[in-house]
Amino acid sequence: MAEGFLLVVSAPSGCGKTTILKQVMATISGLAFSVSHTTRQARLGERHGRDYHFISKEEFIALRDQEPSGFLEWAEVHGNFYGTSRQEVDALLAAGRDVVLDIDIQGAEQVKRTADPVTIFISPPTLAELERRLRGRGTENEEDLAVRLANAEQEMAAADSYRYLIINDELEQAVRDLQAVIAAERRRRNKAQVNRTVPRD
Ligand code: ADP
Ligand code: 5GP
Repeated sequence: MAEGFLLVVSAPSGCGKTTILKQVMATISGLAFSVSHTTRQARLGERHGRDYHFISKEEFIALRDQEPSGFLEWAEVHGNFYGTSRQEVDALLAAGRDVVLDIDIQGAEQVKRTADPVTIFISPPTLAELERRLRGRGTENEEDLAVRLANAEQEMAAADSYRYLIINDELEQAVRDLQAVIAAERRRRNKAQVNRTVPRD
C-alpha cells in the first residue's frame, strides 16, 4: 500500500480553520486528523482524544524530551505548548491515510525540514473580520483574545512560504478550495506511482 502524505494547514486563530477542516474531513475519504497534544485548557465542547490530547506541562515536557522525541514537531503558541505525536502520524501514514496537521507556522517550518508536506495557509478576508469571528466564537477572555490578535499579523506574514493560500471569506468557497487542493495533490502523487504506459486498447 502506498504511504499517505502530510497536509499542513495553518491559519491565524479564529480564521475558521477548524470549521473548514471539519467539513472537508467529512466529505473526503482516506483523510485522518492528527490529534495534537496541548497544555491549554479544553474549551466548552472540546473532547479529550478527539480535539486534542489535553495534558499537563510536565507530561508534555516528558514526551518532548524522550529520545527520540515523542513529537514530530512542537511549539509554544499563545502561551501554551502544542505538539504532534510522531507515533500517531507514522501509524496513519503507514496505513495509507493522508494526514492533516493543524499546526502553527513554527510547527510547519519544523515539519518541512524532515518531510515533504503539502502546505496550506488559510487567511481571513480582513483583520477586522478575524476579530469579529474570534469575539463571536466567545471562547477567549479579553487577555487571550488580545494575544491571538497580536500574533495574527505576524502569522499572516508567513503565508508566502506555504504552497497554497485559501482566503476564508465565504465558508462554502473555502471548503471547495481545500477539497480541490487535496484532490489535485492526490492526482499529482498517484501519477508518480502508476505505470505510465497507456494500453493500446
Ligand atoms: P480557528 O479554528 O481558525 O481558530 P474556528 O473554526 O473556530 O477558527 O472559527 C472561528 C469562528 O468563525 C467560529 O465561530 C466560526 O463559526 C466562524 N467562521 C468560520 N468561517 C467563517 C466564515 N467563512 N464566515 C463567517 N464566520 C466564520
Ligand atoms: P487553538 O488553541 O486555537 O486550538 O490553537 C492555537 C494554535 O495552535 C493554532 O494556530 C493551531 O494550528 C496551533 N496548533 C494546534 N496543534 C498544534 C501542534 O500540534 N503543533 C503546533 N506547532 N501548533 C499547533
